[in-house]
Amino acid sequence: MPPDLIAALDIGGTKIAGALVDGGGKLVARARRATPAQEDGPTVLRAVTAVLRELAAGEHWSRAAAVGIGSAGPVDASTGTVSPVNIPGWRGFPLVEGVRETTGALPVTLVGDGVAMAAAEHWQGAARGRTNALCMVVSTGVGGGLVLDGRLHPGPTGNAGHIGHISVDLDGDPCPCGGRGCVERIASGPHIARRALAAGWRPGPDGDASAAAVAASARAGDPVAAASFARAAQALAAGIAATANLVEIEVAVVGGGVAGAGEVLFGPLRRALADYATLSFVRDLTVLPATMGGDAGLIGAAAAAAQQARLPGFATG
Ligand SMILES: [Zn+2]
Repeated sequence: MPPDLIAALDIGGTKIAGALVDGGGKLVARARRATPAQEDGPTVLRAVTAVLRELAAGEHWSRAAAVGIGSAGPVDASTGTVSPVNIPGWRGFPLVEGVRETTGALPVTLVGDGVAMAAAEHWQGAARGRTNALCMVVSTGVGGGLVLDGRLHPGPTGNAGHIGHISVDLDGDPCPCGGRGCVERIASGPHIARRALAAGWRPGPDGDASAAAVAASARAGDPVAAASFARAAQALAAGIAATANLVEIEVAVVGGGVAGAGEVLFGPLRRALADYATLSFVRDLTVLPATMGGDAGLIGAAAAAAQQARLPGFATG
């Protein structure tokens, strides 16, 4: 059988997931380890290697044609290195070289996790069939990726579409990235919760003070909780509108834990978008919830690798 699978890695601050993905986006093998995020760089790499070895020991490995890596960012695809904010042991870490020690001669593609999510949504999810799209993950952080002219657009370093660090508040709060008033600083889950608490919202008897708990209160009619989500929606809308004005996207797909709030987020997001996306060529922009779920990182890493390796069957443009 000719090589027809992609070995995919999804590397985050809590887990390292691996899979062999077929041309239909199906995962035919899986492996997974916890990320030893507070350990030194070589120790974190050993967890990646363990995932790859488990896949390589399976019956399907001989069908692997390429390797796709989606990693927490920033990444640098031009040098094959990564510096994930939540994995301090990796700073300019040569991840691609480390992966090649296990995968040998297979071509390796590295992209940021937001770019991988965009690839997955374009291939199989809410952005399927769309020519120009922004796909975003809104959770602990805010990331994203772009599809332009029908193809994934990772950019030279694999980070293009990083909407979380567009400034939408010129004199706003400092952001850990070094900027000010970034979308992430207003719209991420922790900041939704922080803002609600500061305005007087209190968690229920279970003590849950997460954005999901704020969303539950908003759904039950709490105006302070709803206002915190509305502010997040406003920041997202301003970032989406800026992107639409720059590159004429037709759809913005929003996923991640915060998007799980449903209409508590999407209602005010659509309304705020009408305030910011005003020119004739962006007025028809639609916002859709992501549909790919927990395997988006793996499926998207595979799609990005397939695009780069020009593998037939992986219909990513
Ligand atoms: Zn920032």
